[in-house]
Amino acid sequence: MWRYALLVPTLAELERSAHDCTACPLAEGRTNVVFGVGDPEADLMFVGEAPGKDEDLQGEPFVGRSGKLLDRLVHEEMGLTRDRFYIANTLKCRPPGNRDPKPDEIATCRPFLEQQIDLIDPTVIVTLGNFATKLLLDTTEGITKVRGRVYRYRSGAHLVPTFHPSAALQGGGGDVTAKMRADLVRAKQLLQEVNA
Ligand code: URA
Repeated sequence: MWRYALLVPTLAELERSAHDCTACPLAEGRTNVVFGVGDPEADLMFVGEAPGKDEDLQGEPFVGRSGKLLDRLVHEEMGLTRDRFYIANTLKCRPPGNRDPKPDEIATCRPFLEQQIDLIDPTVIVTLGNFATKLLLDTTEGITKVRGRVYRYRSGAHLVPTFHPSAALQGGGGDVTAKMRADLVRAKQLLQEVNA
């Protein structure tokens, strides 16, 4: 059943419609739709790029190498495990060969992410990498330029842009990791301030 005169779905209803979605060609190649996981009441939400091979097979975001690094950094800097936040991607289906998302795929999938954010209503959103950051900040500026500051998403949530963990794995190394750590500390401080 849809609430509010068929306009606002629940998160479970939204997930079901994502599972049925055939709005773009990525539907043909997917094993699973990777909608998102975690606490639907969380104050903190992470938004990544798109499912990779492991995520497509398991139907869960960030379960591969990038996810393991992200989990470690979030635990070390924020003291949180996955059950304490929500995590989703800009695209819900895997682009073939892990290529970059295309603009029309992002535009087609965008309503799922935006409704997901509206329903979870986090106070802090951490965007991981260029695709999520550009979409949610509605900017063409790259992550290197925009990170290091706190922005407001249109819902009023604080938005902390940081690198995608794959940037740290792909030779960005210590500098990228150190900046990600600093961004996670910034997100933790925001959560503490909002909840004080
Ligand atoms: N990279 C992403 O952006 N999302 C995932 O779920 C996995 C890797």
